[in-house]
Amino acid sequence: MTPDERTYLCWHCASEQGLAREIDPTTLMNSEYQLGKFVKHTVVDPIFKLAGVFKDPEVSTYEKWVVNSVASGCVVLTPNRTHAYVFVASQQVGVTYKHGSFHTAADAVKVVLPTSPVRVHAYPISSHVIAAKKCAKCGRPVAG
Ligand SMILES: [Zn+2]
Repeated sequence: MTPDERTYLCWHCASEQGLAREIDPTTLMNSEYQLGKFVKHTVVDPIFKLAGVFKDPEVSTYEKWVVNSVASGCVVLTPNRTHAYVFVASQQVGVTYKHGSFHTAADAVKVVLPTSPVRVHAYPISSHVIAAKKCAKCGRPVAG
């Protein structure tokens, strides 16, 4: 899959399609999978080729980012009918690392696998990923 095959929806249009929603933050540590992802995205480990790491490793902060992203982020739709949320935080939320070395500053949060109560998790990314993307429905910039 290439990035070009992805479709983006602004928050407004995602909201109309029922994709902007509430998520229970207590579901974020339901599984070993999710705990592993939380550690991966709060502790720098050079074993990972690329990883976004939150600057604040508190569970409550992590939960807040997930709740905000799912309620207020734009939506990325992939050809296999999964979706993800990207929330531009307008502040630095973390750093992305390549093999433990600084790669980019991260000012957005991505929430993936939101429909799975045992796999949904989040990580920081750079907002440049969605900076030039337009909403597939209304044509407005999704990061706007
Ligand atoms: Zn739109």
